Amino acid sequence: MTREECAALLAYAGRIDPRAALLDPAETAGQLATWCELLRDVPATAPGGWDAAAAVRRHVECSPYPVLPVDITRPWAAHRRELLARHTDPRPAVDPDDVAAYQDAIRAQRNAVATGQAAPSGSRQLTGGPHPTVAARIAGRALPADAAEALAPYRPARAARQAAAAAGRPDALSVPCGWCRAPVGEQCRRRTNATPDRPGTWTRRRTPHPTRTDDAAARPARQEHAA
Ligand SMILES: [Zn+2]
Repeated sequence: MTREECAALLAYAGRIDPRAALLDPAETAGQLATWCELLRDVPATAPGGWDAAAAVRRHVECSPYPVLPVDITRPWAAHRRELLARHTDPRPAVDPDDVAAYQDAIRAQRNAVATGQAAPSGSRQLTGGPHPTVAARIAGRALPADAAEALAPYRPARAARQAAAAAGRPDALSVPCGWCRAPVGEQCRRRTNATPDRPGTWTRRRTPHPTRTDDAAARPARQEHAA
């Protein structure tokens, strides 16, 4: 804060809190010098809604004691920490091979945020799915047949489901497995290396448990029976 800003802040404090107002001119000059010294690194306003006058007002509202410079420096330190936490060091427009210049640029960005001269620059985030033009292009598009065929060895469960559908057999994954308790849509599993005091490791089975296939085959009949 400049000397003028400090004087304005002191005048504001004196106006809203009569206890802070000093009538002796010599004392006022001394108080202004103290405030200028202590609030040198605190900006009057800064990105993120920082306002030194608001900090003074909050103190007068909440505290039974007259306002002191620390009642402004402490909230500013918290606000500054929050600004820096939101800053993510975006890539500066400097040749990255020039290490010294690059580091200087990063430091200058951080310093600008820490002193309230620049707003913190956060990472961009996805806000809601793909861009409409991209969504329109991929909407309803299935994997090309040759690509699906090439991927089949790496997706045995899906390949088995497709083969079952093509052959008119029931889809075992449409029901949970009563044997290994695999939920709907997940492959059956088996446990390996299990001992009484060790749970072992779950491994996916390529083929469903026979009871599950039977359950899937029996399901439409049960539904018909229920209807
Ligand atoms: Zn199973």
